[in-house]
Amino acid sequence: MIISTDRSKRPSDFLRESAVQKGAPYCPFCPGNESKTPSEILAYRPNHGPRDSAGWTLRVVPNKFPVLGIEGNLDRQADGMFDKMNGIGAHEVVIETPNHAETLVTMPPKNVEELLWAFRDRILDLKQDRRFKYILVFKNHGEIAGASLEHPHSQLIAMPILPKQVVEELDGSKRYFANKERCIYCDIVKQEMEARVRVVAENPDFVALAPYAPRYPFETWILPRRHESAFENSPSHLYENLARMMRNVLTRAYHVLENPAYNMVIHTSPVEDNTNDYYHWHLELMPRLTKIAGFEWGTGFYINPTSPEEAAQFLREASEEEPEPLAANQNGLGN
Ligand SMILES: [Zn+2]
Ligand SMILES: [Zn+2]
Ligand SMILES: [Zn+2]
Repeated sequence: MIISTDRSKRPSDFLRESAVQKGAPYCPFCPGNESKTPSEILAYRPNHGPRDSAGWTLRVVPNKFPVLGIEGNLDRQADGMFDKMNGIGAHEVVIETPNHAETLVTMPPKNVEELLWAFRDRILDLKQDRRFKYILVFKNHGEIAGASLEHPHSQLIAMPILPKQVVEELDGSKRYFANKERCIYCDIVKQEMEARVRVVAENPDFVALAPYAPRYPFETWILPRRHESAFENSPSHLYENLARMMRNVLTRAYHVLENPAYNMVIHTSPVEDNTNDYYHWHLELMPRLTKIAGFEWGTGFYINPTSPEEAAQFLREASEEEPEPLAANQNGLGN
């Protein structure tokens, strides 16, 4: 990574990239439009209403335009010197709240925790399918981060091969463990908590920090303090504290970067190796402030105009106040 201090930017220099909430004239994720999505896989309904009806607080449905399809076999084949297989997988959408105008920052902490329980429920279920090697959980917030629908939602994709990024992180962690017999992430947490220059926030179960060599300005990782290799294996109090930490970090980012578009990804162990000593699950948050261009494309290096120490300080000193809710006419319930 190249930390380019000559190009040093204050948070206000990035503000053109904010996620704008327009309020949709019509939204398939809003209550009342349940028939416009594929039939639900899971829903939390405090009053136990019928399936695919309103009254839910969270709803999981198959993605209408999945990147991988659920039916069929992998059918690995040679194509001359090349190899190919069918695009088998599961692609699900978690509709985080019935309220179109809410975000993870404005929704009650209990709802953010429910979202984490939904991730866990779906991971445990998808793991039963022997075809899947990895289950990716992520969220895109804002159009430039790839969110085509504005209604708050996250996604799960179960896939039959390990993604390249995951393999690289696993390999690095395994090498570190082979040399030192210690988990690299446990060591990162320990060292960063002592140095405190890149720490953004902490609570009894989690630490949020700017990584030593961030690819993107204001890239932030949330790590559990205690070693655990898989997200879904955590004890229940962890989800409560993770919800608090996510909300805390996103609120700070909201104030410093004025509701930035972002991608958030859970990095967790593969299905077949989900309890191990060398990998430590974590959450990576990437505000979308810079553009990837020829240099990054040609090298795999990243130019980051904000040092992690500076980014962490801005976030650390930011307000934890919940922002004003959006005006009522900005929700998608109009029709
Ligand atoms: Zn909506
Ligand atoms: Zn660890
Ligand atoms: Zn990671």
